[in-house]
Amino acid sequence: MREDVAVETQVTELLRTLIRNACVNTGEATSGHEARSVDALEEFFAGSGLSCERYTSEPGRTSLITRIEGRDPAAPTLLLMGHTDVVPVNPSGWRRDPFAAELVDGIVWGRGAIDMLNLTATMAVATRRLAAGGFAPRGTLVYLAVADEEAGGVYGAGHLVEREPEAVRCDYVITESGGVPIPTRSGPRLRVAVGEKGGNWRKLIVHGTPGHGSRPFRTDNALVTAARVVQRLAEYRPRARILDAWRQYVQALELEPALAAALTDPERVWETAAGLENLALAREAHACTHTTFSPNVAHGGTKVNVIPDRVEIDVDIRSLPGIEATEVDAMLADALGDLAARVTVESPPNRRRGGTMSPFDTPLVHVLAKVATALVPGSQVVPGITTGGTDAKFFRWKGIPAYGFGLHSTRIPYTEYPLMFHGHDERVDTESLRLSALMWETVCREFLA
Ligand SMILES: [Zn+2]
Repeated sequence: MREDVAVETQVTELLRTLIRNACVNTGEATSGHEARSVDALEEFFAGSGLSCERYTSEPGRTSLITRIEGRDPAAPTLLLMGHTDVVPVNPSGWRRDPFAAELVDGIVWGRGAIDMLNLTATMAVATRRLAAGGFAPRGTLVYLAVADEEAGGVYGAGHLVEREPEAVRCDYVITESGGVPIPTRSGPRLRVAVGEKGGNWRKLIVHGTPGHGSRPFRTDNALVTAARVVQRLAEYRPRARILDAWRQYVQALELEPALAAALTDPERVWETAAGLENLALAREAHACTHTTFSPNVAHGGTKVNVIPDRVEIDVDIRSLPGIEATEVDAMLADALGDLAARVTVESPPNRRRGGTMSPFDTPLVHVLAKVATALVPGSQVVPGITTGGTDAKFFRWKGIPAYGFGLHSTRIPYTEYPLMFHGHDERVDTESLRLSALMWETVCREFLA
């Protein structure tokens, strides 16, 4: 038990350091400054016998790798990956300073506490403990702390997979997100993320004809057209698709049988989600069974007395795994209807890749299930689909199974988690930190030994 306390203290302090480093990624190449947290991790690993490699894609955008080399080249290599960057905050909405990493009554407050500096820290602690204890496994363990996950990963995991394939060569990857206990009648369910949707973002350029704002009658105002475009996108209903992972997940939740059946029926899932009182489940059910279209940014017009000839709309489109970029284009044309002729559609760079899936029935998932059940008695792992993007995609695109997992206590209810991701008052309890650190360590011992 004393050792458990030591683990909890060690991981809590490392997490607080990473939060205070405030590696805020605004999406600009010059933001992030993840080298700060790479320095901190290098310092953390010092004296354990581990040696660290640094990989810098752009100034300040540094990722770190350390590894415990296996004895048997035929044994699998497991890569534990955490990101060190975080999204910006709006401090006025927080109850505590988002970068002070205050520890209050067993809760660490701060940006990144659950996305995902908690896991980056717990994976580091497990790796260090294994190395310091002389762990000599058959298979290789790779610990990877990456930059730039929050802006799509091109300066971090994407850079490494494309430019440094030898450094990140592996057979399995574990990263965020999952492992928050969902209560059911027959015990907690722990989600293992097996797949994620594709970020098929598009920029719509709505065209019009400029003119004098004092004579609007029968003009071709791009902003007026854009309003109709936005409305059509918001009302668009693509066909639902039921993935196996969604079906298994819904079954594991032990909902009313009629509700479970409706949520896994492509003909009924939309109406069912529309009528659900549980808004979190409604949004999840909709996003996990449809390609979604969210018009989120609009820029247009130049001056109050000029009829605008151009409006740009950025649409966050998330395609289900199995949907190709050309199908997304077809859906978009379908949504716009006769307005399509007045709109030019552009794809930002790297935004025509599809969603990704890994099999649930693999030796690694079996070990995750066994270890998690030992640490959270009565629990059961279930497959899940991540609606947002993670760095797992870079590995899945290469055919390497990648999973999102972690282990949390029930101190913070699972219903709070969706609000904390990229939201205000992000925080984690130290028991969850201990559980995750011990889980990674045991998984490595079971899977690589
Ligand atoms: Zn994240």
